[in-house]
Amino acid sequence: MIVILLGPPGAGKGTQAKRLEEKYGIVQLSTGDMLRQAVAADSDLGRRAKAVMEAGQLMPDDLMIAMIEERISQPDCRNGFILDGFPRTVSQAEALDDMLARRGLRLDAVILMKVDEEALVERITGRFTCARCGASYHDKFNRPKVEGVCDICGGTEFVRRPDDNEETVRARLKAYHEQTAPILPYYRDKGVLKEVDGMAPIDEVTRQIEAILAP
Ligand code: AMP
Repeated sequence: MIVILLGPPGAGKGTQAKRLEEKYGIVQLSTGDMLRQAVAADSDLGRRAKAVMEAGQLMPDDLMIAMIEERISQPDCRNGFILDGFPRTVSQAEALDDMLARRGLRLDAVILMKVDEEALVERITGRFTCARCGASYHDKFNRPKVEGVCDICGGTEFVRRPDDNEETVRARLKAYHEQTAPILPYYRDKGVLKEVDGMAPIDEVTRQIEAILAP
C-alpha cells in the first residue's frame, strides 16, 4: 500500500502516519524527519537543511527527490509506505509518479487532511514528541496518559522542533500555499485525492483514513 498524507504544517500528518504504520505494517517516510536526522548528524546536507528549515522554506526539489528515491529502494519499503511531507511541489509529485511507474508501483490514495488555518499556530507551537520513539503529543490537546511518560514506549525524554515557533510557522504556511497547494489539483485530476476532517479528534481522523484505505 502506498499512501500520501497531504495538508499544511500542523494538520496531523505525522501523528496519523505513525498510527497507519502500526496498523498496516508499512513504513512512514517523513522527509522532515530525514532532514532533522541530517541536522543532528551535522552533515553537509544537515547544515544546509538547518538554515532552510529555520527560515520555513523548502529544500531544493532535486535533493528531496533523490532522497526519497533512495529511501523507497530500501527493503523495508517492499510492503508499502506512507509519505509524510513529500511531495511538496508539483515537480516532486511528477518525479514521484515517474519513480513509481519505473518500479511498477501505483499510489493507493492521496489523503488531504483539511484543517482550519486559524487553529494551526496553536496546534504547532504546543506540540512535542517522544525523543525515543517519535510519538507525538500536544500541551493542550494530546498529553501523555501519565505525565512525563510516553504512552507508546515509556520514554521520559521529549523534544520540540526548533521550527515550531510562530514566526517560522507563518513562513511554512506561506510556503504551503504557494508551493504545495498546487499539488491538490494535480492529484484531483488523477482521481486519487480523498479528504478527511483534520479538525476532528485524533481517533476520528484515524477512523476516516482507515475507511478510505479499507479494501
Ligand atoms: P516537516 O517535518 O514535513 O514539517 O518538514 C520540516 C521542514 O523540512 C520543511 O519546513 C522544509 O524546510 C523541509 N522539507 C521537508 N520535506 C520537504 C520536501 N519534500 N521538500 C522540500 N523541503 C522539505
